[in-house]
Formats: sequence, C-alpha cells, structure tokens
Amino acid sequence: MMPELPVVDHHAHLREDRASLEAATQFARLGGTHLFLATQNYLNRGPDSIEDYRAQFETTLSIARTVERETGVRVFPVLAPYPVDMLGQAERHSLAAAVEIQVGALELAGRYVRERKAVALGEVGRAHFPVSPEATAAQAEVLAAAIRVARESGCPLVLHTEDLDEHGYEELSALAAKGSLPLNHVVKHYARTYLPAVQRHGVIPSFLAKRETVVAALSDPSTWFLETDYLADPERPGAVLALDTVPRRVEWLRRTQPELVERLRIPFVEAPRKVYGLELTVPKRP
Ligand SMILES: [Zn+2]
Repeated sequence: MMPELPVVDHHAHLREDRASLEAATQFARLGGTHLFLATQNYLNRGPDSIEDYRAQFETTLSIARTVERETGVRVFPVLAPYPVDMLGQAERHSLAAAVEIQVGALELAGRYVRERKAVALGEVGRAHFPVSPEATAAQAEVLAAAIRVARESGCPLVLHTEDLDEHGYEELSALAAKGSLPLNHVVKHYARTYLPAVQRHGVIPSFLAKRETVVAALSDPSTWFLETDYLADPERPGAVLALDTVPRRVEWLRRTQPELVERLRIPFVEAPRKVYGLELTVPKRP
C-alpha cells in the first residue's frame, strides 16, 4: 500500500484578506494539503526600500501562519524582491539605486531562508517583457546576486522569466553552473507549455496546471512541479488559475484515469524531496 498522496500547489500568492482565506479553505476542502506561498507586493505602491521588503516578507509569513491555523494546509513561504519591482524603483530613483535595493532585499530573503522561515528565494529573474538594454544589464546583475545568495543559503531559486524555449532553459542552466548553483536548485516557475526533459537542460519546471499540460507531464519521469500562480487580485479576476485547480486535477484523474494517479508522486513527493529536502506527508485531519 502506497502512503496517501499529498496534493501540492507549488506556486501561489495570497493576501491578508477574506478572499484569500476562502480560496485556501476551498483548496483544503478539495484535498489540497501543501502550498508554496510566494511573496508579493501588498502595498498600493511599489516597494522602495529594504524596510518595505522586510514588511512585505513579514506579511507573507503572517499569511502563511493564518492559513495553516485556519485550514490545516501546510504552507512554505518563498521570498524575494519581485524582478519587475526594479523597473519602478529605477524610475523613481535611479537604476543603480534600484539594483542596490534588489540586492539588499535578496540578502534579506537569504537570511529568512537560513533562519528556516522560508524555503526558497523567489520569484527572481527578469521581467517577462522586453526592457531597455540598461535595465537588461541591471536584471542580469541582480540575477547573478540571486544565484549567489541561493548558493550561500543552500536553497532553491524560483525563477520568473519570459516563456522559455530549449535555448532559454539552456541559458539558465549555464548561468546556474557559472554561479555554482546545483541544478536541482534551479526552478522555472510558470512553465506554461510542456517541454520534454531533454530540452530543459536540468532546470526544474513548475508547470502551470492547465489540463493539457498536466496530461503531457504525467509521462515525464524527471522532476517537475504543478502550480496555479494563483493571485488574489480583485482587478484581474480569472487572470490566473483558481487555487483549487491542483486538487481538481487530481480528482479528475482519479475519475478518468485512476491508473495514472500514482504518477503524481513526482510533483507532490519526489520533487519536494529532491529540490527542497522536504518530506511531504498527508497530515491527519480531525
Ligand atoms: Zn508568482
């Protein structure tokens, strides 16, 4: 008898509000057991200092505790300055000042990881749209710092980038190698389309849990995650997948192809172990 399968969303955002708690409650009700909670800006302006990021990271930890207490879902915080924040900081200050804020916030996030308050640095990387050559160079500088902090903290790096083809994965893989970051610590979040492992050059994809992507990934024996990138944004309802998507996919598979359900041990058990050193088991519910 295999142990009961945990049900894991590897990348979601929540806010300190009722809608977020309701989404997490629904995730738990449908069988969700573990959630990787990525930080986000909770202000109605861009974060502008290390202190802003400290407050933001503390909010993420507080949301994680609330969700754990109220829903029984186990929550793993993932912290970093969001790469796109840098563009606003550069406009309000200067590009050099923006780089300084970003690197300082990365060092701070690394400290949270080493204190075991967070499990990874994320999201880091670069804007998912083209930026000026100067900003491109600044993003590369910040990404190199992120790779260094992840290596020093012994943790995974969760990357936000444009959609990647084989060449893009190869480039990330080479960047990590250059910074001596082990490849099992390099995760491409929001992988929207399935690419076979041979084209991913050792980078670990976190696939967006659209049905066709899940189906394609199920026959992939390498390491991968599933995520929704859920973002409780009242301005953009339905912009990303609902937080109950991963448990719904599990239910759908149980109904339609029960012989394939055990394949989900890859994203829900083996990938958390290999990438994060986490042993995920299903908590006993009252
Ligand atoms: Zn995200």
